[in-house]
Amino acid sequence: MGQLFHEARKRLKQAAKYLELDPDVLEKLKYPKETLAASLLIRMDDGSRRSFKAWRCRYDDTRGPTKGGIRYHPSVCLDEVMALAFWMTFKCAVVNLPYGGAKGGVAVDASSLSKSELERLSRAYVKAFANFIGPDRDIPAPDMYTNAMIMGWMADEYSAIVGQPSPAVITGKPLQLGGSLGRDDATGRGGYYVLRHLEKDLGVTPEKARVIVQGFGNVGYHCARMLHADGYRIVGVSDSQTALYAPDGMDPLAVREHKKRTGSLRGAPAHGRMQETSNKALLEQECDILVPSAMENQIDAQNAPNIQARIVMEMANGPITPGGDQALNNKGVIVIPDILANAGGVTVSYFEWVQNKAGYYWTLPDVHARLQQIMEPEARRVWDIKLEKQIDMRTAAYVHALDRIAAAVTAHGGKAYFSS
Ligand code: GLU
Repeated sequence: MGQLFHEARKRLKQAAKYLELDPDVLEKLKYPKETLAASLLIRMDDGSRRSFKAWRCRYDDTRGPTKGGIRYHPSVCLDEVMALAFWMTFKCAVVNLPYGGAKGGVAVDASSLSKSELERLSRAYVKAFANFIGPDRDIPAPDMYTNAMIMGWMADEYSAIVGQPSPAVITGKPLQLGGSLGRDDATGRGGYYVLRHLEKDLGVTPEKARVIVQGFGNVGYHCARMLHADGYRIVGVSDSQTALYAPDGMDPLAVREHKKRTGSLRGAPAHGRMQETSNKALLEQECDILVPSAMENQIDAQNAPNIQARIVMEMANGPITPGGDQALNNKGVIVIPDILANAGGVTVSYFEWVQNKAGYYWTLPDVHARLQQIMEPEARRVWDIKLEKQIDMRTAAYVHALDRIAAAVTAHGGKAYFSS
């Protein structure tokens, strides 16, 4: 068993201590329900053929069809896909979506492919997994280095295979193909709602709070933009190439404009002094709130003691290792866990799926209001569990999710039937 999945499962054991669980439940959640591996053989633009390894893992479908993104990244492997599918299972339960969890991925550096190669790869993915996914079975979505355009190709390919338009098979599609308004910034927005809702409990004052956002992709950028608009000071941002620290703050919109224009964060505008640093070093700079929005395993037992933030909001999936968690907890740092903080993305994916099935499309204010109506009470519930049981927020989120999953396992039929 791989390291990442092994570590992910530790969180489950930790949470189980705080619930009186039927052992059947933990047994059911021990391994993924099913995983399919394939190689995607595609024609490159120069006429040669290349093969890429691909996976899809449906972790658990007790609470409904499985849901989760597809990641394109050179380091994608079975272990990572399983861990991400595990996290999706709990994420959907934290915000009470009628879904189980899944994840997919292709081991590829998407930036090395031309647009038409990327399209052939994405269509090949759907051909390989057409019997595995489905609108009532397993519903993919974007993840790292996949986007609306790719979801559009995938929905199109699936519809061609089944012989009818099937928009509900995939979420995160372009609006013209049945995408939802508000899906693009939904993950960042969800985190923003959670943080704003818990401000008083966390002792945060926007005008005084300095924020570092590691990862300036879709998630990090939108989260930074919304927080900045409400008065938070964004003092650090980074992408995979460049990390910037500016103690007097920067405007995420201007930074994004600069990156669009020049292709790099380097030299982006800031108020006052600006220092270029490394991605790793950025995490350790002075700030109040750290928002890792890039890859997993960024904060571990080694660098956690150097983190200066008082609050870490995980907008990436799994950016803190269990060792890192422990070190942060020991220091009194509050971690708002990924399965709550970044659940806004899958929540609006759920809205998209509902709209596709109903054939009735919502306005943007509707999407925002409904997202807020989900994120805030669930964040509150997690916070209350944390206080009630005197545990960290991550464990509280797992307790909350596990409670819901356990109730669903029991509702499907429990041991009591045999023993009574
Ligand atoms: N990939 C996103 C996540 O990790 C979204 C998944 C979805 O929308 O299904 O939560």
